Amino acid sequence: MIKSLYRKLLSEKQRIALHYALYKIEAAFLKGDRYECCCCGKSSRRFLSHGDKGPRKNIKCLHCLSLERTRILCMYLRNEILDKTERPISILHFAPVKGLKDFLKSSPHVSVYHDADINPNVATYQCDITQMPYADNTFDLIICSHVLYCVPEDEKGMQEIHRVLKPGGRALLVDTWLDGPTQDLSQLPASERKAISGDATS
Ligand SMILES: [Zn+2]
Repeated sequence: MIKSLYRKLLSEKQRIALHYALYKIEAAFLKGDRYECCCCGKSSRRFLSHGDKGPRKNIKCLHCLSLERTRILCMYLRNEILDKTERPISILHFAPVKGLKDFLKSSPHVSVYHDADINPNVATYQCDITQMPYADNTFDLIICSHVLYCVPEDEKGMQEIHRVLKPGGRALLVDTWLDGPTQDLSQLPASERKAISGDATS
């Protein structure tokens, strides 16, 4: 009841802004230097708990909301790609999470940064991954983390990624992987996808 009222009263953009504002307040109570986030570079006494399948303790940065998977991706990008590039590179980033987005936008090794999503409320550019509005051979690097399992035509999405990637460019495609036979999660209802993948944020 309260949840549906909250959704009716506030737009998705307003709910996201409120979400970040509440975390900022929480951050003020957890000032400290025990943990440092490699995405935003900020410190705190501890990280937050997070998880739809039961909260995991001390995993979410309260400044940029990054989880472990985002921080690992961030470290890989910095150590293996950005620090080794000989010239600034162009990046297309699908389903951007705040911590990684801010890190990439401020990097001197990045010449062009496009954050995109099919949902216009969560990214600067609205873009269907199966039908991108970009010319062939546009980007040096494409980041697509935990996206393709939600796309019914994921093969078409991968063809588009290949098309807009420059020759010799790189695509980082990170996705949910389960033991046993491969399951096509894109065919499941959103609630079931979420139950299997844990969550779809950060
Ligand atoms: Zn952070």
